[in-house]
Amino acid sequence: MSLNRRKFLKDSLLLAAISTRSSSIFASPVFFEKSSTFKRVRPGDPHWPSPDKWEKLNNAVNGNLIKLESPLTSCKTSPGKSTCDDLFKNLKNPYYIGDNPALTQSSGWLDAWRSESSVYAVAAKATDDVVAAVNFARENNLRLVVKGGGHSYQGTSNSADSLLIWTRAMNKIVLHESYIAHGCEARQAAQPAVTIEAGAMWLQTYDAVTTKGGRYVQGGGCATVGVAGLIQSGGFGSFSKHYGMAAAALLEAEIVTADGSVKIANACNNSDLFWALKGGGGGSFGVVTKLTLRTRELPENFGLVFGSVKAKSDAAFKTLITKLVELYHDKLFNPHWGEQIRFRPDNTVEITMLFHGLTREQAQASWQSFEEWVRQASQDYVFETPLTTMVIPAQHLWDIAFLKQYAPGFIAMDDRPNASEKNIYWTSNKSEAGQFLHGYRSAWLPDALLEKKNQKKFADALFAASRHWSTTLHFNKGLAGAPPEEVAAAKDTAMNPDVLDAFALVIIAGEGKPAFTGIVGHEPDVNKGRDQAARINKAMDELKKIAPNAGSYVSESDFFEKNWQQSFWGSNYKRLAVVKKKYDPEGLFFVHHGVGSEEWSDDGFTRIR
Ligand SMILES: Cc1cc2nc3c(=O)[nH]c(=O)nc-3n(C[C@H](O)[C@H](O)[C@H](O)COP(=O)(O)OP(=O)(O)OC[C@H]3O[C@@H](n4cnc5c(N)ncnc54)[C@H](O)[C@@H]3O)c2cc1C
Repeated sequence: MSLNRRKFLKDSLLLAAISTRSSSIFASPVFFEKSSTFKRVRPGDPHWPSPDKWEKLNNAVNGNLIKLESPLTSCKTSPGKSTCDDLFKNLKNPYYIGDNPALTQSSGWLDAWRSESSVYAVAAKATDDVVAAVNFARENNLRLVVKGGGHSYQGTSNSADSLLIWTRAMNKIVLHESYIAHGCEARQAAQPAVTIEAGAMWLQTYDAVTTKGGRYVQGGGCATVGVAGLIQSGGFGSFSKHYGMAAAALLEAEIVTADGSVKIANACNNSDLFWALKGGGGGSFGVVTKLTLRTRELPENFGLVFGSVKAKSDAAFKTLITKLVELYHDKLFNPHWGEQIRFRPDNTVEITMLFHGLTREQAQASWQSFEEWVRQASQDYVFETPLTTMVIPAQHLWDIAFLKQYAPGFIAMDDRPNASEKNIYWTSNKSEAGQFLHGYRSAWLPDALLEKKNQKKFADALFAASRHWSTTLHFNKGLAGAPPEEVAAAKDTAMNPDVLDAFALVIIAGEGKPAFTGIVGHEPDVNKGRDQAARINKAMDELKKIAPNAGSYVSESDFFEKNWQQSFWGSNYKRLAVVKKKYDPEGLFFVHHGVGSEEWSDDGFTRIR
């Protein structure tokens, strides 16, 4: 009798557990193991789709299903082969990596994640392919991954045992002279815009919009970053202090949600989803298939000021930092200036600042007093690279032919035989191709730190941080100092509101060459990596002393961020979680530290809540 009673109770609990799930889940062959644990299937599991089912998917996506094999597999078995040497050479080429669905732009992150190939990829060519792949993943209970440019530092565009939707071939770009988002006719004025398919890279977009179209679109600095990934991160480029955050320029997106429907998201349709796509993080709300962004006027010129100064003592370096903080506050804290100043442990400062809409003379005037001060104190400082100002007609900044002729030192080429002539990237991004990350931290620094009364405290913290690791201020990744209308536009996004009052994002990071566990001669250097990670953390601790609650940029941040919901999205997280539940109630879309990911195991296979 008592046994039966226990069985009855157990069955009732199981029924209750099942019935609390929404009805849509019954449409898919979900199964419950060990007291109703929900698990996605892996190859070898009895519910893994049969070859017939995969063939049906292949037909549904017009033959665009690919069975993946990582090129690294053969290196594991025959590490000494010349093909393996060629592979590791190619792993320094972002185009080679981007063209291979089994690879990612970072090879991994020590103690965090390593790049793994999916089992199959749908190399989507059209929205219908994406719909078929989403439905297949949901109906067969698969771990689904979405990849565009493959640049995620956090490894969110790869997973072993998964199905990948790979958007690289979806890269059409269409310019509009006057665009109104669908259904917004009564609320929006027509404006120039560009519609970009999700797999396009920023270089392709700039080529269409700026070089050919004579307009500007706010995107990212790195040429090979994917458009959809960056927009969903918020997105900053060199001139964001003038044009604002990239996501704030989004007028409309087409997106395939977890139920397999194609939705238009804009200010007038699915406006909650539209808001979430503007900075709520890639890979969490659906598969974006195209995006429409407003385009803007180009200035006459863009320009660059670069150089480096070495201080001859710690005391002189401290003074140099103070001088640069003061210079930034007095002369550069405005919409004209963006990009970076790096403070290195060897008492060197590297300056790489870009400007917008200034003449050469105006730009030089901003730096003149600093340059003279350094020269006059030759007992304490030396210019290791003289301060140099370059100006480029704005329409030529991404003009491949122009760059090859006039600025060959700034670009690197895809060096594969038969590679497209158009495949260029900035030499400054070379070290990041294939990188194996050791540590990466970022924090938005509030503009209050620039006030006269706080400048010394801030300079001292920068000095203390630089004792541990190179510490870089990215001035274009904080909106304090930007025009009020750009700050207001950023406010209407899902980004952590900390970005609005931040004058810079500080990034402290370290990486090594491409590395893979199990490949002789190319294993990660664990000791060196952990040492670097510890130094990076110590450097950030110094800055956290003066900005303890600073949030962090979701796409350029720590894999191990503890309070990630608060750090990436601040007060916007609650609203994001509601949008997630509405459009993806069963959590088909999972990424590490993405909205709703707290309901899943670290690998995204097992529901834990
Ligand atoms: C070398 C380098 C330079 C960078 N420079 C900048 C910079 O200048 N400014 C800046 O703001 N950021 C920069 N970043 C960060 C970058 O913007 C983000 O990592 C961005 O998410 C990368 O997008 P992706 O498509 O290239 O990467 P992926 O790894 O393909 O995607 C990133 C995330 O977005 C998701 N995703 C991709 N496509 C889609 C889609 N169509 N629909 C739904 N989800 C999708 C993926 O699932 C993943 O979670 C840089 C990163 C690197 C590695």
